[in-house]
Amino acid sequence: MTATPICITCKLERTLVSIRPTRNRHEVRQYECPKCRSVFRLVVQCTPTDFDDGNFNAPALKAGAR
Ligand SMILES: [Zn+2]
Repeated sequence: MTATPICITCKLERTLVSIRPTRNRHEVRQYECPKCRSVFRLVVQCTPTDFDDGNFNAPALKAGAR
């Protein structure tokens, strides 16, 4: 789902070097180009993998007691 960024100078796939959590359930990923060592930062949402877009309001998860 998340594509690896490509260094537009070298046309190489960048390497993920660090992930840091930030506010609002987002995280900052740092990608480094293996050739020119430039760093690209990307903020992505840390979504749990078992949530789909349509299921976010599904009432079934905590509705066990009735
Ligand atoms: Zn590069």
